[in-house]
Amino acid sequence: MGTIKLDQKKRQKFKELVAPRSNLQACLTCGTCAGGCPVAGWEGMDPRKLVRMLQLGLEDEVIKSDWIWQCTNCERCTWACPMGVKFGEIITNARASVPREETPGEIQKTANNHRETMNNMRLTVEDAIESFEWMAEELQEEIPDFELPIDKQGAEFFCTINSKQPQYFPMDLQSIYKIFYAAGADWTISSKWWEGTNYAIFTGDFDTWEYTLREQAKRVEELGCRVMAYTE
Ligand code: SF4
Ligand code: SF4
Repeated sequence: MGTIKLDQKKRQKFKELVAPRSNLQACLTCGTCAGGCPVAGWEGMDPRKLVRMLQLGLEDEVIKSDWIWQCTNCERCTWACPMGVKFGEIITNARASVPREETPGEIQKTANNHRETMNNMRLTVEDAIESFEWMAEELQEEIPDFELPIDKQGAEFFCTINSKQPQYFPMDLQSIYKIFYAAGADWTISSKWWEGTNYAIFTGDFDTWEYTLREQAKRVEELGCRVMAYTE
């Protein structure tokens, strides 16, 4: 357990709203959740114990524990639980109760990048387009009639990508291009808000999560696309 100073308002919200909504009190301590959890046993992590701690009113200990960050949020436990205990809700809201400066590693910084620059890697619009076009030009050596539809108005599919692709693995973009090409799809890649990953989900930063998604949805509407394609 750490020495995090908790925001009492957030802590109270977790206690009063989230815990009852998550069916905590229905837990039978059967252990099915722990049996299927990929991180159970790692540094003592045990989803069954976590639920028990909340039943006993140990919210502070749960929020301060490393367990809430060890969880992958895979939701295997939620699906397996016979009593409908909602782990995703518990974990995400416990993370939201942690002060932003106390979130581990780089995940909050990545979420902040997304909010500030429209993508996790802080790529400028110009740099992203340069990568998109560079890979399209190379693909044309293999598929001469391939054309990259950037900001195509009215396309059916709005393609999102992982910012690691234009930044570190541009060849992966060609794989995506080839799939749309082979499918004969009417698609586009936007010059803005193309990021297909969202770290705010993992940090419990609901405000950034909502903001980035709304901005992306606005861009989809501006282009008149019907379907968002998450290639990640
Ligand atoms: S699977 Fe559900 S009922 Fe069983 S211990 Fe886990 S939370 Fe409790
Ligand atoms: S959501 Fe978390 S606690 Fe549940 S099985 Fe996945 S890693 Fe384990």
